Amino acid sequence: MTAFEDEELTMAASDKRDPLPEKLPWQWEEHEWRGHVERVRAGRSLKPDVWPQGAKAAVALSFDPDHESIPLRDGETRPGKLSQGEFGARVGIPRILALLERRSLPATFFMPAVCALLRPDEARGYTERGHEVGIHGWIHERNMELDPKNERDLMFRCADTLERLSGQRPVGIRTPSWDFSDATLAISRELGLLYDSSLMADDDPYEIVADGEPTGMVELPPEWIRDDAIYFPMDRYTALRPYAMPRHVVGIWRDEFDAAYAEGGLFQMTMHPHVIGHRSRMVVLEELLEHIAGHEGIWYATHAEVAAYVKSRSETDPQSEASS
Ligand SMILES: [Zn+2]
Repeated sequence: MTAFEDEELTMAASDKRDPLPEKLPWQWEEHEWRGHVERVRAGRSLKPDVWPQGAKAAVALSFDPDHESIPLRDGETRPGKLSQGEFGARVGIPRILALLERRSLPATFFMPAVCALLRPDEARGYTERGHEVGIHGWIHERNMELDPKNERDLMFRCADTLERLSGQRPVGIRTPSWDFSDATLAISRELGLLYDSSLMADDDPYEIVADGEPTGMVELPPEWIRDDAIYFPMDRYTALRPYAMPRHVVGIWRDEFDAAYAEGGLFQMTMHPHVIGHRSRMVVLEELLEHIAGHEGIWYATHAEVAAYVKSRSETDPQSEASS
């Protein structure tokens, strides 16, 4: 056997060796578990001492017009599933826009780029009515399954597509399914975004900190509690059949609002046209808005307006620094 053949055999043998097992979480050194937690976390609170026009609390409504993008993201291309998303665009959106117009309320629409390409008039219609359009992925992709290069490419394409079709450059992002990867924050910052609305470390706005450094980026925290998607959708082939009573759900949202109002904080809602847009659910959304309207001193704003306000307020208000 020549030295060369010997080396080849050695290499072949080493190729067959099992890779070193990854460390289990209980084996991590302190810098490892601490590093995971500190990569992206909540910094100082940006809850202002006062809201615009002396308002007592802020209300920020958002709708994610996901339409057909969720089944498409999963490779589900058959007409049956797609029609459930189509309902959101055909029926849900007109009902929601009419409700907002009737009550003169602004809202933010976090729209996947593919949905905007399918219906450019819908995207343009939001901004023409004074609403905000925000980033919500290309095709509602799961960021945690993407490598950073593809995630960045899709997010940039989404921003450019929404700008072209809606006439408004997005300043905020809600990651699809709130799927926030290790790369998401860096890409959002590279895009120069003002705010994110995907992380859940508070009820009220806060500044995002990355590896111990304040980023200047605002987080407007959502929560599944204030999201219609955990209560209503159902999958007939699995045990996942929540189908909660709309009148029960509106009780949770009313309590969320009442507590936000009592604390002088932010009441933020996430809804989906293909979910909330059904008759029995629009009834309770109207009831919720009626309940809120019965309170003095509510500032209704888009997510971008809330983010811009709390950020500028924190820069001029020494109180906010002190409470961080
Ligand atoms: Zn979505």
